[in-house]
Amino acid sequence: MQSVTLLCVSKTFSADAVREAHAAGERCFGENYVQEALDKIDALSDLRTQLEWHLIGPLQSNKTRVVAERFDWVHSVDRLKIAQRLAEQRPAGLPPLQLCLQVNISGEASKSGLAPAEVPALAQAVAALPRVRLRGLMAIPEPAADTASQRMPHRALHALLESLRGQGLDLDTLSMGMSADLEAAVLEGATLVRVGSAIFGARG
Ligand SMILES: *Cc1c(COP(=O)(O)O)cnc(C)c1O
Repeated sequence: MQSVTLLCVSKTFSADAVREAHAAGERCFGENYVQEALDKIDALSDLRTQLEWHLIGPLQSNKTRVVAERFDWVHSVDRLKIAQRLAEQRPAGLPPLQLCLQVNISGEASKSGLAPAEVPALAQAVAALPRVRLRGLMAIPEPAADTASQRMPHRALHALLESLRGQGLDLDTLSMGMSADLEAAVLEGATLVRVGSAIFGARG
């Protein structure tokens, strides 16, 4: 089986909760809101070189500079304009910012992310940008009650990743699976699961 990275989703939890998870051996943390994340990154600056900070929530263009300067990964890229700004604003002294494209894999009208048909063109364009590295795809499928139905959107995201690889893109990341559907996601080839409440407890 593939190895699976655990991204601890620390949104709404304190910097101290992140510090405890780090002490227990965790290294990768996911946040939805830029300002909340920056407060924690500042509070944990003594651990900065040991932690990877991932933005998993929506990113508006007026926030790209601070994200390019302070984060390690962005999972929620869904427009070329955002990726271009991140590429322009990523400081030259830092390693490339690691990116995933967010795909609206269940086709929900209310969800952010690209339609699957839009993914190949954006992937080629993002892969050509400097100072960022396209790693793969991210999705938040529509909730489903049983594992069999949970597996279908994850399987579709995996197939989309494989088709991009078939077009010559060097991609290694399938960011899929949350507390409620992480088993289904791993069964379908997730390489990174984003887990919040199953680690930190219910959000208030
Ligand atoms: C909150 C969130 C998670 C974690 O959700 P849990 O159900 O707490 O595991 C994962 N991914 C994204 C994009 C989120 O917003």
